[in-house]
Amino acid sequence: MSDLRDDVSDLFAALTGREPDGLWSAPGRVNLLGDHTDYHDGFALPFAIDRRTLVAAGARDDAVLRVVSALSDQAIEVRLDELDAVRGRAGWADYPLGVAWALGRSGADLAAVPGVDLVLDSNVPVGAGLSSSAALESAVALALDDLWRLGMSHPALAQAGRLAENDFVGAPTGILDQTAAMLGRRDAALLLDSRSLATEYVDLGLEAAGLAIVVLETGESHSHATGGYGDRRAESEAAAVRLGATSLRDLGIDDLVRARATLDDLGFRRVRHVVSENARVLEAVRLLRADGPTAIGALLDASHASLRDDYEVSTPELDLAVETARENGALGARMTGGGFGGSAIALAPVDAISRIQVALDGAFSEHGFAQPEVYPVRPSDGATRDR
Ligand code: ADP
Ligand code: MG
Repeated sequence: MSDLRDDVSDLFAALTGREPDGLWSAPGRVNLLGDHTDYHDGFALPFAIDRRTLVAAGARDDAVLRVVSALSDQAIEVRLDELDAVRGRAGWADYPLGVAWALGRSGADLAAVPGVDLVLDSNVPVGAGLSSSAALESAVALALDDLWRLGMSHPALAQAGRLAENDFVGAPTGILDQTAAMLGRRDAALLLDSRSLATEYVDLGLEAAGLAIVVLETGESHSHATGGYGDRRAESEAAAVRLGATSLRDLGIDDLVRARATLDDLGFRRVRHVVSENARVLEAVRLLRADGPTAIGALLDASHASLRDDYEVSTPELDLAVETARENGALGARMTGGGFGGSAIALAPVDAISRIQVALDGAFSEHGFAQPEVYPVRPSDGATRDR
């Protein structure tokens, strides 16, 4: 991490001929439980991980926003009053430009603030379902908030990141990722109520229990700007309308009888996932507080089955990763994030990690899948100013 800080500062100096005004960073995340619930006003339980996106930034004496990433050779320069013209058309740069645009929508006067050079680097895997997008948005939002002296709260900056992703990039995602990246805390998960946006920290106590959360990266990259994510959202929102519900958040397990009688099979299964997943999140919080992390394995397994069978967002790679981890000592495992590729997580005793790694390598090559990446992640702090 300290190497990456020096690298991004050096890159900033090489590109601009001056030192950055500061260095900001924000983490990727895994979602312990509660997927495809955030856009239904429901509950989720993510934590920020020990992989971060860094941004070295410095004010300019003109009104130009210039964005560079060590992960792309495509640098972009746009005037702050011309952001609308590139909306949705700047490739990866839509993410940082979108944040500036969203801050403008959230009260910043883009005609009065200086231009900024933004130089990014990251060790969050990109497109792996660990939310490199929200890590980038959150680091940039905090940097611009500081440099432009906006004084916005972390939750407000999370909202700006989401607005950028939804309305500038064009990916119809919920508030989960940005909340984890902005508000994460070491050794804790974050219970998010997507309706009120209230959050509560929930101690995880993994280390004391001899456990770790292990990421199982399938290597299948996913994209939320296209395809299945939007389809699932549309299907489940249509089911809510047929049930006369403003939001699926308002339905409980008892309402599933009526849902089964009212909806076709597909609509019913979409609803059953959301309703049961919300209940699993709340149950996991109760169990974590009462009995600690060893108690939640079965809930992770049930969540995976629901995402696979009812919401249909898993893949053969994710299913294999989850099954293999369980057969090799994990207490529970599930896909994490939006699905259609990306990563799974396993709750595992620390001394089972290497066995899981070896078993996953073997199982993936047996099935002709690309080699997975398997590594533990630590619950970590959210967005910070680092220098
Ligand atoms: P995820 O958030 O799971 O990693 P997304 O598809 O939501 O996957 O976001 C990945 C996209 O975000 C990349 O395709 C790229 O456009 C952008 N991105 C994320 N991090 C960086 C980075 N450090 N540099 C440049 N672009 C990035
Ligand atoms: Mg993302």
